[in-house]
Amino acid sequence: MSIFSTDILKNTDAYVPGEQPQDKSYIKLNTNEFPFPPSDKVKSVVSDKKAADLRLYPDPTCRVLKQAIAENYGLKDENVFCGNGSDEVLALSFLSFCKKEDVVVFPDISYGFYPVFASFFGLNYKEIPLRDDFLIDISDYFSDCGTVYIANPNAPTGLALSVGQIEEILKNNPNHVVVIDEAYCDFCDCTAIGLIAEYENLLIVRTFSKSYALAGARIGFALGSKELIADLEKAKFSFNPYNLNRLSIEIGAEAMKDREYFEKTVAIIKENRQKLTDDLRKLGFLVLDSGANFVFAKKDGFDGEQLYLKLKENGILVRHFGKERIKDYLRITVGTKEQDDALINTLGRILK
Ligand code: PMP
Repeated sequence: MSIFSTDILKNTDAYVPGEQPQDKSYIKLNTNEFPFPPSDKVKSVVSDKKAADLRLYPDPTCRVLKQAIAENYGLKDENVFCGNGSDEVLALSFLSFCKKEDVVVFPDISYGFYPVFASFFGLNYKEIPLRDDFLIDISDYFSDCGTVYIANPNAPTGLALSVGQIEEILKNNPNHVVVIDEAYCDFCDCTAIGLIAEYENLLIVRTFSKSYALAGARIGFALGSKELIADLEKAKFSFNPYNLNRLSIEIGAEAMKDREYFEKTVAIIKENRQKLTDDLRKLGFLVLDSGANFVFAKKDGFDGEQLYLKLKENGILVRHFGKERIKDYLRITVGTKEQDDALINTLGRILK
């Protein structure tokens, strides 16, 4: 810390992203990236002409991207907000909707950035324990005491709430925004998008980083009522009006329009997820039923951190979290069939 740092900075434990090693190449199953390249349509954006156009500022309204997203979901442009990755969208939602006198609520085991944002923005927050089976008890979220953050499917468990359960949470928080972080929702059928028309307090946050294979382009978005989206726009124009670069705006639009490629590749990941789950269970792992592009698994009698380190030694990266309740689990991104087979074979050898 410098002698100039604020108390807020001093008192915040920054988010620690998964490893992005630059030294050697790993079979990388640690940060839930998509194992296939993005749609071929994306390539048309990366041209000499577009490179030359980088001298110009981007469109601060992200019009072409917004239109592509709105069209895909049958919504209006006014229901869509675009951000520099969903992390930025989440950050702006904390700034826009979480009040000092309220208590922000989210599960104790969920996306690790929620408590970081809450702390960084000087907010009171409460982490509500998941049940012993790692499911969310929705009645824990009926207090209407502050903005609710729920990742659905949840990370790192992969377990999802039904749309009916999300609706119950919305009904029981009429005075607060309920943010449903659907980063992984394309890998299951649990989206709450159909509730937007009815619930003015629903904000859905999504990303191009997973199912569109564009983690490196940093594109996220929010869907919600016209009023919530207008608030986010105001926050963005008070912070970073040109939040998406010229290339990412167009890349996102092209990727979203290519429905055929999206559906084909997401279907492969779902198939691979089932195979990976079955194979891990054959090795004696307990594997939660995932609705995401990762699985959460542990093997009794084996230390999670040791398994993670052994895999790393063997050139395979998975994610391990030190938190007491989940320290024996590994979060493993679903890869290509070849990557998943390599993981299973290596685990088989390690367990012997
Ligand atoms: N939400 C959840 C639940 C996530 O796991 C992630 C990925 N770390 C994000 C949001 C952020 O994704 P991005 O900023 O790449 O859109």
